[in-house]
Amino acid sequence: MFQPEDLDVVRKLLAMIGEDPDREGLKETPLRFLKAFEEYTSGYRQNPEEILKSFEDGAESVDEMVIVRDIPVYSLCEHHLAPFFGKAHIGYVPDQRILGLSKMSRLVEVYARRLQVQERLTNQIADALDTFLQPLGVAVVIECRHMCMESRGVRHVGAGTVTSALRGSVKNNPDTRKEFLSLIRR
Ligand SMILES: [Zn+2]
Repeated sequence: MFQPEDLDVVRKLLAMIGEDPDREGLKETPLRFLKAFEEYTSGYRQNPEEILKSFEDGAESVDEMVIVRDIPVYSLCEHHLAPFFGKAHIGYVPDQRILGLSKMSRLVEVYARRLQVQERLTNQIADALDTFLQPLGVAVVIECRHMCMESRGVRHVGAGTVTSALRGSVKNNPDTRKEFLSLIRR
């Protein structure tokens, strides 16, 4: 995706902070940095519909909420290009269709591996499930630590940010919502 001349952009950045881009330890850094950034932003080149198009068999008998907890989240805040990371908990009430568990983490990656704000990330995951899986209800809760908040500025160390997005029966039915919340808290 990146071009050879993009290496100069990183060399410029290194020089800007007072480093010598030609010193031994930094020689390969521009290339490594660009490759890493390509991976951090690989979600732009993935299609959620593709990931969610096939369903597991045996869903006819499932009408209780399905919960997948502790899905790893690694993302970059779009304001500082700083990492934010944590966990996603996803619940849905199936309507004929259930999803393989590994698909859940792939779906999270599609949206996490982009420049993000945590609120939008949470809503995009909920909307993709709502649109492509068409369950009766969806809930997504994400808890993350933001390096831009913890390592700079006001330094809210360890202050996690929690966001949630609810759709359908989880949003409208207080009992379903309560069930989801108690299930993700163990
Ligand atoms: Zn930030």
